Amino acid sequence: ADEGTGGRPEVMRGDLRDILLDSLPAGTVRWGQKVGSARTVGGGRHEVTFADGSTVGTSLLVGADGAWSRVRPLLSSTTPEYIGKSVVETCLLDAGIRHPAAAEAVGGGSMIAHTPGREIFAHRERADTLHAYIGLSEPQDWFDAIDFADGAVATARIAQEFDGWAPELTALITDSDIAPVLRPLHALPAGHRWDRVPGVTLLGDAAHLSAPNGEGANLAMLDGAELGTALAAHPDDIEAALTAYEQAMFPRSTEAATIGEPGAHATDSDSQAVRALITALTGSEKQERTQ
Ligand SMILES: Cc1cc2nc3c(=O)[nH]c(=O)nc-3n(C[C@H](O)[C@H](O)[C@H](O)COP(=O)(O)OP(=O)(O)OC[C@H]3O[C@@H](n4cnc5c(N)ncnc54)[C@H](O)[C@@H]3O)c2cc1C
Repeated sequence: ADEGTGGRPEVMRGDLRDILLDSLPAGTVRWGQKVGSARTVGGGRHEVTFADGSTVGTSLLVGADGAWSRVRPLLSSTTPEYIGKSVVETCLLDAGIRHPAAAEAVGGGSMIAHTPGREIFAHRERADTLHAYIGLSEPQDWFDAIDFADGAVATARIAQEFDGWAPELTALITDSDIAPVLRPLHALPAGHRWDRVPGVTLLGDAAHLSAPNGEGANLAMLDGAELGTALAAHPDDIEAALTAYEQAMFPRSTEAATIGEPGAHATDSDSQAVRALITALTGSEKQERTQ
């Protein structure tokens, strides 16, 4: 549970998204502009082609487009691979009243129960909601055989894998108020890096997608802040800025990717280790932690 000091703030994804978008001048984000591809045109310049066929040229291209980045191929031929584990997402509403045993098991913060290959991770969100990831280490075709379009069938099949577990834990599967959502987990190899290509770089999951360990959004935001700082420090030299940014980002993301069990959410001590690492690298004591 949160220790009440404000040192471990959690934030809902939607709230974080609103905070970030509201901080930008109107019109900065152009909605509906899906990137189809990007190519090098020489002299440090790149051309981005959108799904509607329109193009834009730029002297600084930052791929912040997540796991399946369309910008990454300009720098690296590496693609994410399935880590051998997927999670099934569930949600229990009004937990204190409707699911008191599960609510007590989860407590005021987060809870992990696991055996080799099977895991239930749950945490408390606002409005008395319990949000859970049911982790199963199985190949993708094992999940393909389950009809996730039929929520009841999928719930029963996943619950079967936890037969004999405590009912307050299996309730996090069987009592979900949403249909279970399958989320296959992919990662780039830890230590993924590339040689400098003029005018283009990556940040966040596009650069260092890893198995969820509770820190991916923190790292993505830190990358963005560090890249901005480097560009401000080298206003007339994009290459110097990108070099400085990448030299710090590569070891930071490598170390963070190796913290925590593959595919697991971070334990408290793992999170503390990442925060200590980020603090050491940035001098900043206050880091947001996301759900
Ligand atoms: C199950 C699960 C649980 C997680 N839990 C946590 C957690 O508790 N805490 C935490 O810190 N992290 C968590 N993470 C990791 C976290 O979600 C990511 O590390 C983080 O979102 C990375 O941010 P990003 O901005 O790099 O990429 P993303 O959040 O993926 O953002 C990329 C953006 O690019 C856009 N985009 C993609 N392709 C295109 C295109 N072709 N054209 C235009 N736009 C495009 C997308 O729409 C998206 O808005 C979790 C991940 C998973 C899978």
